[in-house]
Amino acid sequence: MRRSRRKSESCFICLGILLAVFALLNRTNGAAVQETGISAAGIIAGEGMQRLGRDDRERPQIALTFDDGPDPEYTGKLLDGLKERGVKVSFFLLGKSIEGNEDIVKRMHREGHLIGNHTYNHVRLDRASDAAAREEILKTNNRIYEITGEYPVYMRPPYGAWKKDTEFCVEMIPVFWTIDTLDWKTQNVQDVLQRARKNIKNGSVILMHDEYETTVEAALALVDEFTEQGWEFVTVDRLILP
Ligand SMILES: [Zn+2]
Repeated sequence: MRRSRRKSESCFICLGILLAVFALLNRTNGAAVQETGISAAGIIAGEGMQRLGRDDRERPQIALTFDDGPDPEYTGKLLDGLKERGVKVSFFLLGKSIEGNEDIVKRMHREGHLIGNHTYNHVRLDRASDAAAREEILKTNNRIYEITGEYPVYMRPPYGAWKKDTEFCVEMIPVFWTIDTLDWKTQNVQDVLQRARKNIKNGSVILMHDEYETTVEAALALVDEFTEQGWEFVTVDRLILP
């Protein structure tokens, strides 16, 4: 308990420093830049976290994120297409889906994609006890660490349900989304593309699931269309890091 209190205290101190630095930087930045940075950071890490540094990116950025994988059939196809295009995305893995698909996870890591946590059993963390929630997260982190040698920092809470006041919140950075493509529901390439196109802006985080053929097709079509228009696809960490 004492350890966790110290952790939350240092977390608040860090946030305080981040906010102070951001306030200073803001004096020299334009209003539009501030707005982009604040909204991107808010989406990814909640209200407390702010994007640091000057936003001098030449191209508008978007992050494709894929939940519920790895999928033995479609994740590999998606990775092939992304590799051809030189694009990196973020995968939020289900611990229970990793078994038997370790090679896919290894490949994601080798090819430079961000690997995050999506719990072990796809549970609603806000309805689980703190102990159960921690186990869901840590078990999945450990599986990923055993395969990649890297401990995940980011997580996508299933259903976007995240309790900020629980102890585990200080150990992982939650990543939400700005565009829900509903790809799992429609399983229709054009529909997914329409939803994404309609809402896309600098700093958008797009939610998809790499377990449908239609999603793979839509994601790659989106990459082609927006790369052509000058957009850059980045992993979610790059939306908040300077
Ligand atoms: Zn999910």
